[in-house]
Amino acid sequence: MKTLKFGGTSVGKPERMQHIARLIIQDPDPKIVVLSALSGTTNTLVDIGENLFEEKVDKAGQLIHDLHDHYMSFIDDLYSQDKFKESAIIAINEHFDFMNGLIAAFFNKRLNNELLAQGELMSTKIFSLYLDEQEIPSKLISALDFMYIDEDKEPDIEFTNDKLSGILYQNKGIGIFVTQGYICRNHEGEIDNLQRGGSDYTATLIGAAINAPEVQIWTDIDGMHNNDPRIVEKTYAISNLSFNEASELAYFGAKILHPSSIWPAQKYNVPVRLKNTMEPDAYGTLISDIEEEKKIKAVAAKDGITAIKIKSSRMLMAYGFLRKIFQIFENYRTPIDMISTSEVAVSLTIDDDSNLKSIMKELKDFGDIVVDDHQTIICIVGNKIVEKEEILQKVFRAMENVPVRMISYGGSRYNISILVDNKFKNETLRELNKHIFNI
Ligand code: ASP
Ligand code: MG
Repeated sequence: MKTLKFGGTSVGKPERMQHIARLIIQDPDPKIVVLSALSGTTNTLVDIGENLFEEKVDKAGQLIHDLHDHYMSFIDDLYSQDKFKESAIIAINEHFDFMNGLIAAFFNKRLNNELLAQGELMSTKIFSLYLDEQEIPSKLISALDFMYIDEDKEPDIEFTNDKLSGILYQNKGIGIFVTQGYICRNHEGEIDNLQRGGSDYTATLIGAAINAPEVQIWTDIDGMHNNDPRIVEKTYAISNLSFNEASELAYFGAKILHPSSIWPAQKYNVPVRLKNTMEPDAYGTLISDIEEEKKIKAVAAKDGITAIKIKSSRMLMAYGFLRKIFQIFENYRTPIDMISTSEVAVSLTIDDDSNLKSIMKELKDFGDIVVDDHQTIICIVGNKIVEKEEILQKVFRAMENVPVRMISYGGSRYNISILVDNKFKNETLRELNKHIFNI
């Protein structure tokens, strides 16, 4: 059974939703369809939650009211038969009754998580009713019955496999299942979620759990590009990526795929195909365990990076120095991305600076500290890229006029990373495009 995920924009307008209904029946294979909330909904729900936390009930009420209007006109446009419009209105009004009920409630984190789940709960109900109207046999199943995260917020694929196999077995003969992305239950049995953008993650977790032949992530772009099309003029969709290359790219800013969504696919060896709803017959990008050697696949950038330099003569010939420094970052649960060292200094980067002040305070005992914020990591990705002839010459030629703050080469076979001030990001991406891809 395949897993197909459609994002918010793919279901965000009635005609788009009708379009994906046609798309999923073109392929006769059995499938689980994972949907995001209608575009904009989760942002609005986050906004409503923030207002409720701040006890701005009028504002929250207004946002709920406007969202309700949006859903009513969506329903009106989507269905052609009154019978289905009425069923949809009844179903959706239940969700809005719940949301309106929050205004008088003592709002807390648990209720906020329930609020955030409303988007996917509504989009899947609306879509499955539309399939009913079109007389396309399908079954709506609740992700809350089989998606689970433990105390560390880690999903449990075995649990999903167990529960979902049971559900599929009870519904033998059904070819289309519809379920929610993003939402799950936590170890306390409460409604929770896989973080923003988590529907991709749901799709690959399901794909891994049921050993799907393929997970398809449908968006409105034609796959992962070799460079950022918003900044660089000439880019192209990459046909094939290995799991390792894709996870580097997903982490380093290629917004098309949630970074966590690669590992379940890689661990269970389920190919992931990125497809475009506007060009359904195009190849898209296939992410699999096939590694093409010595080919540069892409360049990507990650903003909002902070570089920290610790300089100390005590580091000279000393051992245990790095461990002590890393321990501080570990104590504050702050991951380090890049590092580079000299005999008396170490530079490293973090993207989560929420504990920076406390970290700095402790680092001061080890030497002089220099912090540079607004940095960008540019990474060049490709299998065995470091063995590629002339790669360094090309990179250095591209960087001729850009001051490089750090460079990391040889850390993995897949990646060369360069740290630059954010103001040089666009120039760097364009120059690398010219020198590396010759376009
Ligand atoms: N609706 C959720 C969000 O906007 C999950 C998703 O779309 O992937 O973050
Ligand atoms: Mg997304």
